[in-house]
Amino acid sequence: MESRHKSMKAFGEDLALPEVQLQIINRNNGFPSFEEKYLEVGEGELRTGKIEIMQINLGKMCNQVCKHCHVDAGPDRKEIMTKETMQLCLDALASSDIQTVDLTGGAPELNPDFKWFVTEIKKLDKHIIVRSNLTILVTNGFEDYPEFLAKNKVEIVSSLPYYKASFTDRQRGNGVFAKSIKAMQILNELGYGKEDTGLIFNLVYNPVGAFLPPGQECLEKDYKRELAKNFGLVFNNLYTITNMPISRYLDYLLASGNYEDYMTKLVNAFNPAAAANVMCKYTLSVSWEGNLYDCDFNQMLELPVSEGAPRHIKDFNQAQLEGRKIIAGQHCFGCTAGAGSSCGGELT
Ligand code: SF4
Ligand code: SF4
Repeated sequence: MESRHKSMKAFGEDLALPEVQLQIINRNNGFPSFEEKYLEVGEGELRTGKIEIMQINLGKMCNQVCKHCHVDAGPDRKEIMTKETMQLCLDALASSDIQTVDLTGGAPELNPDFKWFVTEIKKLDKHIIVRSNLTILVTNGFEDYPEFLAKNKVEIVSSLPYYKASFTDRQRGNGVFAKSIKAMQILNELGYGKEDTGLIFNLVYNPVGAFLPPGQECLEKDYKRELAKNFGLVFNNLYTITNMPISRYLDYLLASGNYEDYMTKLVNAFNPAAAANVMCKYTLSVSWEGNLYDCDFNQMLELPVSEGAPRHIKDFNQAQLEGRKIIAGQHCFGCTAGAGSSCGGELT
């Protein structure tokens, strides 16, 4: 299986290149700039507050090749965080009062030092979130990972685009739904998603097509009812996430002729209340190479944190990173449309 990394082309432009994506996203197409719209929040330019979450990308390798993936991850991606860079992250965490570490990828479990890293973060007494795609947990060689995660009280956040197989498989690949259900059964048996176990298991919904997510609360009820009825499964929360107009999803929007419509939807649905809570205000994103970004999306677009702030984890300095100006672009409208969107779901 090959990722689409080498073949992402629309109108002759190589979308695998972040600068090409940025040119397309930031083209003057009659929309107001995000920075202009952000002024409606009433607090001046977009700046960070206190850093509460360090989100660390452990690499771009993944056992899946999902159509909407903003990382453009896949089995043929070689980018993996080294143990040395992990140690720099641990040093930074030890020197900070950041309480939550959010591990993402690719499939973070595919990093050969994943277990060591989780164990070391745990020693620092930080809360750990792992963004697991579920299918990796039922893949040969990874069968002991659910138990490992439970033993370390790691919170799991997993994408399940819908509670019906056809929708999920259309976005994430044939057979993904069945494997995800199997992994969820294993997690439930360990206590994940059940009350009073302290083992948090959250699911993520994102739209299959070029539309905004429906209301999170209503959809969570539907997911809970259907997954319980059909498979006897439980989970804690459902997060609805808007697809960002970058990477493979930008490729899809351009190829399907939906790009202008989708951007219009995002811009028209700008919500100052959601904008006031965008996740970059309290999250620092670290790439597999240790470079620092305002969020995972800016990381994929290779937009580093603003000049003057430390730009690599080896130079981490919490005080210098807090209060910095956030590097915004037209893709940011994906975070501020409707009820808003973040790695933790709605923002309002
Ligand atoms: S599982 Fe996640 S990282 Fe892997 S291809 Fe799908 S969206 Fe991308
Ligand atoms: S895309 Fe990133 S920088 Fe832009 S608003 Fe969203 S989280 Fe912030």
